Amino acid sequence: MILLDGKKTSNDIKDEIASEVSQLVANGGKKPHLAAILIGDNGASETYVNAKVKACLEVGFSSTLVRLDTSVTQEQLLAEVEKININSDIDGLIVQLPLPFHIDEMKVTESILPSKDVDGFHPTNIGKMALNLPTYLPATPAGILELLLRYNIETSGKHCVVIGRSHIVGSPMSILMARNTNPGNCTVTLTHSRTKNLNEITKTADILIVALGKAEFVTANMVKDGVVIIDVGITRIKSDKTKSGWKLLGDVDFKGVKNKCNFITPVPGGVGPMTIAMLLKNTLLSSKSNLY
Ligand code: NAP
Repeated sequence: MILLDGKKTSNDIKDEIASEVSQLVANGGKKPHLAAILIGDNGASETYVNAKVKACLEVGFSSTLVRLDTSVTQEQLLAEVEKININSDIDGLIVQLPLPFHIDEMKVTESILPSKDVDGFHPTNIGKMALNLPTYLPATPAGILELLLRYNIETSGKHCVVIGRSHIVGSPMSILMARNTNPGNCTVTLTHSRTKNLNEITKTADILIVALGKAEFVTANMVKDGVVIIDVGITRIKSDKTKSGWKLLGDVDFKGVKNKCNFITPVPGGVGPMTIAMLLKNTLLSSKSNLY
């Protein structure tokens, strides 16, 4: 079994980005600039945004964090997005999810200029992705592709099973794995909560990508020998064994399945760090204005 080390791979990518940024700046260019909007005081969101801001500093980007109260109205939020849309110094904008219930997530996503949508969630960018046109790929699926690529995992002709069909992970992942690209060229089965006989389907997977948000859902009896497993899930559970008082679990029973796998991502340290690295990569791409 080979561990797909997202922490190391993301550090490699960050080093590559940092050296490109220092070259850019040495040649008189401006630093790439990522803005993030964070609403309310959700602990997990705060952690994710802080990690993104820290990563920006590490690679030499500028970053702006706009904090808004949970009581912010949709109009006020859209006005903040517009300010960033028209700020020519800012290359990329992310609005940290989830949003408060009174805010329409899709309206906010659509209000971000596609050219600054470095999360790759805007319908224009999702459409370009589906058509295999140059665009910002959604960061988590892009991070998974990068792991497959850098570990030289053959995907062509393989059966890829994806569990979960969210707009940010499962659905784009299924599209990307089916495209005529490398990684890609898989025969893809996209599964969700209405799928019947899930175990029978997962047992036929050469590559299993799991993103449903249920801790240790995938067990050894659901997979075949030699499978490649990508575990996207992150569930926080209380623990008296850690300093912080909680620990992170993936959607896969790592201990149970690891001996059946050719490759597997750990949680933490697998897909999570890759997501941030790909967000930085998209922001760098935006600053070079190659796409729009
Ligand atoms: P989500 O929006 O909550 O969607 C979950 C998906 O799983 C839905 O499509 C749902 O089906 C499906 N599902 C639920 N129960 C199922 C079951 N018993 N069998 C088969 N499918 C089932 O999920 P998400 O936003 O993609 O997040 C998934 C997990 O990944 C979460 O733990 C999240 O924290 C994590 N995540 C990690 C990263 C990272 O960077 N590592 C990034 C994003 C998300 P229906 O559509 O039928 O409801």
